[in-house]
Amino acid sequence: MIHGFQFCSNGEEFVYRVLKDGEIEVISHTDEDFDDFFPYGDYPDHFPELQIALRSEPYDSTKAEDALLYQGVFGLDDLSDSETLRAIEVAKKTWDPYKLERLDHQQDCTDTELLRCNGCAPFCQTTPSKCCPNPKCTAEVDYVIDAYELELSADEPPLEIPEKIIRVPTLRVVAIHEDEGARDEELWGGVWVQLIFQLCAECGCVVVSNQCT
Ligand SMILES: [Zn+2]
Repeated sequence: MIHGFQFCSNGEEFVYRVLKDGEIEVISHTDEDFDDFFPYGDYPDHFPELQIALRSEPYDSTKAEDALLYQGVFGLDDLSDSETLRAIEVAKKTWDPYKLERLDHQQDCTDTELLRCNGCAPFCQTTPSKCCPNPKCTAEVDYVIDAYELELSADEPPLEIPEKIIRVPTLRVVAIHEDEGARDEELWGGVWVQLIFQLCAECGCVVVSNQCT
């Protein structure tokens, strides 16, 4: 698992593929500029080396508590109607209240729709896209978002947003790095960081994105 410490200043994913043991090819952001304020104070070169161990954990996708715990990875489709209703009650007791507030476009949503739209555990902010960003990925193109200009304010030139190719979903979450108080806590100037590693089933690249609270 590699995190592109020097490539993560532009808010996009870091994409690479493994060539052989100990050698990778960086696919994304090799030609972009760093932000003016990068690196931030105390920005680390690398994470501390840690030993890890793998262990299996019980998970029952038909049970409300378990399904909510990994909703962003496996969804809620295995819940029966009665377990879905129970999941709504569990969410009301355990979610941050803001996730249960209806946004303007959600005023007509049922509780079940709100549960499906707003739940994203174990991810901090949102469920990451399952569409591979590798421009050379051989996965089928689903649709294309045309280039457009984003108006910022009257005295600023519009931001040019390039065309974006969206492929069919091929990414699967294989690991999450969460730190609980070591150095990478300071990665973005003091905020807590979650790194998400996804593997593309089509081109084999690894996509690393980050979320923070
Ligand atoms: Zn791919």
